Amino acid sequence: MFKALVVQKNEAGETSAAIEEVSEDRLPEGDVTVAVEYSTVNYKDGLCVGSGGGLVRNYPHVPGVDFAGVVESSDDPRFTPGDRVVLNGWRVGEIRWGGYAEKARVKADWLVKLPEAITTRQAMAVGTAGYTSMLSVIALENHGLTPDKGPVLVTGAAGGVGSVATAILANLGYEVAGVTGRPETADYLKSLGVSQIVPRDEINETVKRPLEAETWAGCIDAVGGPMLARVLGQIKYGGSVAAVGLAGGANLPATVIPFLLRGVNLLGIDSVMRPIEDRIEAWNRLATDLPMDKLEAMIQPATLADLPRLGADILKGQVQGRVVVDVR
Ligand code: NDP
Repeated sequence: MFKALVVQKNEAGETSAAIEEVSEDRLPEGDVTVAVEYSTVNYKDGLCVGSGGGLVRNYPHVPGVDFAGVVESSDDPRFTPGDRVVLNGWRVGEIRWGGYAEKARVKADWLVKLPEAITTRQAMAVGTAGYTSMLSVIALENHGLTPDKGPVLVTGAAGGVGSVATAILANLGYEVAGVTGRPETADYLKSLGVSQIVPRDEINETVKRPLEAETWAGCIDAVGGPMLARVLGQIKYGGSVAAVGLAGGANLPATVIPFLLRGVNLLGIDSVMRPIEDRIEAWNRLATDLPMDKLEAMIQPATLADLPRLGADILKGQVQGRVVVDVR
């Protein structure tokens, strides 16, 4: 038996989440069984702990789209008991049981061995949010971004993606500007390396002029919606925006003018179905490029019992930094 946060759905279609003792034979099929140590809270987890948001197919369900732990048993030669592993995405925690449990069983293809320098706790402080931030930095670099090109804008800066993106960029020598709707996070953002704070209201309006002053060499955008549309018109010639999230909306009320007249690139960032080679590169880069003291400052510790509240908080944009859930 092991402990898990189980979401049930009643006949009226209402969901409820509670900690239960679950028998190991209820785990899904897979090659590797992992003793999960830590998980975290993403926007998708907020949906899956609550109403499901159209992501969950079957109930009872164990959410948790990412986890880090130690291999307990493996039918795949790539993994042996004792290996420290991390899993992000692959729709685990959505269409399959996920990381909000002391045990998980998954396909070996989905697991990445953690670099020596990263503990399982740090891996979940990074989480899907941080790993996706790293994918975004790599995408911007691959499109020519270097620190001498000018300041980089991070939107949703006090959130998970934004916090880790800021810490990585600042550590790599970039000048970082952070957009936030929470002025009270200013000291936190400065401690991560933000040198300029852009109030959300200043940049969250509908596009009036398709081109504005060339201000940012690049952007990591966790917000989407009207903010992303505005940012596109402020990117310097040839610069790129990594589109990661939709905290501010899924529509993009933009014009194509920044693409046509300034050669701006809009780079889509998916972390969920990402090929394994890119994942290994991102985790290795995190081991060297993310200062672990800054990561520590982002951590909000939690347990399985805190998840229903934290799931609701993240849906309201009220989580600061990175929640690390000790599932044991
Ligand atoms: P968080 O909730 O931690 O952060 C989102 C931040 O966006 C908030 O902290 C807030 O920052 C800002 N924000 C929230 N609501 C609004 C709004 N209405 N308008 C403008 N800004 C807003 O979430 P994460 O950082 O974990 O994830 C960010 C986004 O990235 C989510 O949409 C998530 O689904 C997506 N994502 C995508 C992935 C991918 O593979 N593409 C992987 C991981 C996440 P502040 O208070 O500073 O303004």
